[in-house]
Amino acid sequence: MVHFVGAGPGAPDLITLRGKRHLEEADVIIYAGSLVNKELLDFAKAGCEIYDSAKLDLNEVISIIKRATDEGKEIVRLHTGDPSIYGAIREQMDLLEEAGIPYDVTPGVSSFCGAAASLNLEYTLPGISQSVIITRIDGRTAVPEKESLEQLSKHEATMVFFLSAGDTLGLQTRLIDSGMSPETPCAIVYKATWPEEEKYICTLANLNETATSHGISKTALIIVGKVVSGKDYENSKLYDPGFTTMYRQGKDIETR
Ligand code: SAH
Repeated sequence: MVHFVGAGPGAPDLITLRGKRHLEEADVIIYAGSLVNKELLDFAKAGCEIYDSAKLDLNEVISIIKRATDEGKEIVRLHTGDPSIYGAIREQMDLLEEAGIPYDVTPGVSSFCGAAASLNLEYTLPGISQSVIITRIDGRTAVPEKESLEQLSKHEATMVFFLSAGDTLGLQTRLIDSGMSPETPCAIVYKATWPEEEKYICTLANLNETATSHGISKTALIIVGKVVSGKDYENSKLYDPGFTTMYRQGKDIETR
């Protein structure tokens, strides 16, 4: 059995209880060494075989899983954040299905949630944005034209850019050229929830300068949108004293 497990964004105590249990019980752990905090490997039992997938290609990962499965072993495939976000898990699942190897998935705290926590940020502020666009700048992996950042920025929703810290100049230039205000608030969060975390608030106009002056070109998220300022929002209806919900009688009723 293979357990795909989300390791969380970095801090080892941000893995789920279920994920931790899988790590403790695993005979084999294959972890994404470029981003997973190695302290999580301390949960492994004595004698557990541990492989860093940063040094392996897809076929090598699957070969290890097949061999371990033949030996009747429990396997954890440990991915950073939540496996469903840029985790390259579908291609592994397809090969496991082909080989008749069962698997399941344990979610994790994605880095975009870790970054929001570090910034005390709410992505969905009423009156500003009710949507979060998770995307990336195109690199070696193409982004479909309909999802180009020029297209997505038209929504003026909150945008979270993964895998884009290496091209903050491209990001800044293209977003401004596509009509976004240079004054749009942005945040850069490097290694959210790790001890070496760094976070900066800036504007679109000085995004690249902020990133380069702090030497940030990887392992960072870039958040773009008015929610970053945390200002000019409307209070929620959920806790509005005058608003009736399924669980609470609003005071508006009394005055009718
Ligand atoms: N599945 C992961 C994302 C993997 S893609 C998740 O859910 O978070 C790798 C990218 O994620 C990095 O280039 C960076 O943009 C982002 N990332 C991962 N961990 C991060 C962290 N702790 N802080 C900031 N960005 C992070």
